[in-house]
Amino acid sequence: MSAHDDIRIGGITPFTTVDWPGQLAAVAWLAGCPWRCPYCHNHGLWTEAAAQYDLADLLRFLEGRRGLLDGVVFSGGEPLAQPGLGHAMGQVRELGFEVALHTAGAYPERLRQVLPELSWVGFDVKAPWDRYDDITHAPDSGVAARTSLQMVLDAGLPMEARTTWHPSLLTPDDLTAIALQLAELGVPAWRVQAYRSEGSTGQLPDETVYPHDVPAQAQAAIADYAFRRA
Ligand code: SF4
Repeated sequence: MSAHDDIRIGGITPFTTVDWPGQLAAVAWLAGCPWRCPYCHNHGLWTEAAAQYDLADLLRFLEGRRGLLDGVVFSGGEPLAQPGLGHAMGQVRELGFEVALHTAGAYPERLRQVLPELSWVGFDVKAPWDRYDDITHAPDSGVAARTSLQMVLDAGLPMEARTTWHPSLLTPDDLTAIALQLAELGVPAWRVQAYRSEGSTGQLPDETVYPHDVPAQAQAAIADYAFRRA
């Protein structure tokens, strides 16, 4: 295995039932993300300096979990920031585990390469496409995210879109715009996640939102809609 095929992992959650709905999974939290969302709960993973484990460590851990877990979620950070992700997913599948991906869609071409490995995708949707950069602080991020989401949908993969809502970043009208854009693309499931201050970057005022704050038009736009606490 070349260094290019390795991955840098900030942490491993041995067992979860919430990061991949309906599956018993482990989560590999990959280090590195090119975006800088002010509500990020994983800002400790923003740079690869957070790495504590590599692919060999993950595979060693999984050897002992065969038959006990359905699959592995690659989360982050932004897992696709690492060019070795596809190789790592292939190795995990060879051990007999299914593979899921949490992504915000910053790397469409890398996403295209790993799509055949995936059984499920949790896709972060930050904002209406034309407002993305206000949240990610990265140029043209909405174009990359929209392209990536379209790829996931075109591949026919089971998926869920999620939007973290802080009222200083997105208005109720923004939420409706997001919902209508997702509906137009054919997104089957959407979760609005209320911002949670604990563990975030501390850049935002400590305000919260409630299920009834989400406009009815937004709630009705996607058949499988739910509000949850992040
Ligand atoms: S894309 Fe995800 S990991 Fe990256 S800064 Fe935003 S919330 Fe954090």
